[in-house]
Amino acid sequence: MATHLTVRGLVIRETPLHDADKLFDLLTDEGIRTVQAKSVRKPGSKYGAVTQLFSYGEFCLRQNGGRFYLDSAVSLNLFYGLRNDLDALALASYFSELIRKTATDQPQPQLLRLYLLSLHHLSEHDRPLPLVKAVFELRLITELGMMPNLVCCSVCMEYQPAHPVLRIRQADLVCAGCLSEPEPQDFAVRASVLLAARHAVFSEPDRLFQFRLRGESETQFAQYAESYLRHRLGMYFPTLKFYHELTGNGRAADAAAPTE
Ligand SMILES: [Zn+2]
Repeated sequence: MATHLTVRGLVIRETPLHDADKLFDLLTDEGIRTVQAKSVRKPGSKYGAVTQLFSYGEFCLRQNGGRFYLDSAVSLNLFYGLRNDLDALALASYFSELIRKTATDQPQPQLLRLYLLSLHHLSEHDRPLPLVKAVFELRLITELGMMPNLVCCSVCMEYQPAHPVLRIRQADLVCAGCLSEPEPQDFAVRASVLLAARHAVFSEPDRLFQFRLRGESETQFAQYAESYLRHRLGMYFPTLKFYHELTGNGRAADAAAPTE
């Protein structure tokens, strides 16, 4: 027998089916739900917009035999600002791939919240893309239980090293003076980059994007966040390579290729 439920969720993938039907993945507080929707690809369909990629809405679903079907939906935010900015759209696609590859069917409300906040800034164009990307990456990896230990130097316990080194393999922080065996992946960074990384890992969700970095500091922060995430997850992300190609960051595009 079918059961009915109402959920709020964000469309993170859509797949066309026959007869103008569609399958879409919905990120909800309870995890990802794959939903089948009838005739929504017909021109003028009532639920065409709300079931498209990066649409956030309230969905009335019918569950039958382990599958979900769309009954009706109301749009809450279509993030229109995303749709005229290819770079931002590419970044949002990378976030979707990250979520799809790491989310479980267990309740993870913090992932939906993180994604919605990030989309808000991408859509409003009020934060630089590299900053939104780095915060998303570091916070996601933290929510997945793989946060770096950035509280103090692992060797001497100094809280504010003048010359911090963020280590990828050891997932920690040391002072440059305490680093005995440097490794190629170690990041010697400015003190402001350590503060930014701490903020991304520890801050209240509402304040996650409430800081600024410029120039070289922003570049260091972005490189560290991406390296750390890729090392911990050990996965290849085609959408990340595309994003780097699009934004002209060739060196990082090489780095985004598979390491295996
Ligand atoms: Zn130290």
